Amino acid sequence: MASCPLNNHLQAYFDGELDESRRSELELHLRECPSCTEELARFQAMSRMIASVPSPRLSQIGLYRLHNQIDQAMEEGVLRIVRVLSAIAACVLVAGSAWLVKVRDDRAVESIAPVAPPWADVVEASDSPSGAYSTPAAAWYLADDSARSEDSQ
Ligand SMILES: [Zn+2]
Repeated sequence: MASCPLNNHLQAYFDGELDESRRSELELHLRECPSCTEELARFQAMSRMIASVPSPRLSQIGLYRLHNQIDQAMEEGVLRIVRVLSAIAACVLVAGSAWLVKVRDDRAVESIAPVAPPWADVVEASDSPSGAYSTPAAAWYLADDSARSEDSQ
């Protein structure tokens, strides 16, 4: 029933691949061409049919094969990476919890101000260079800094 030369463009039209001018041209043509109208209706019916078919489900054998492939991938190192990552995460969690407990003990009585992490002590100490340094690292850092600024002056 391919009696119209424009039948060849119907698939592209249906897929929305025609540019503006060709599309309007074809739409005009569709009004007076029963062949193209019928062909287009067939595309639409086919599309609806495909859409209504349920997606394929994995058979028992397919599932078994999929599990085997996953197991194989795990043996090839994926599982090892996951274990390392969880170990790192656990360490971070333990360290963070320990720090939180310590901070709560130290500052619970002093104030309800938001607690600063240990590394913030360096910044706090730099506001008063002559004051006592809260940590050895802060003392080293600030001493080095003041020595450098004296050199440059
Ligand atoms: Zn036609």
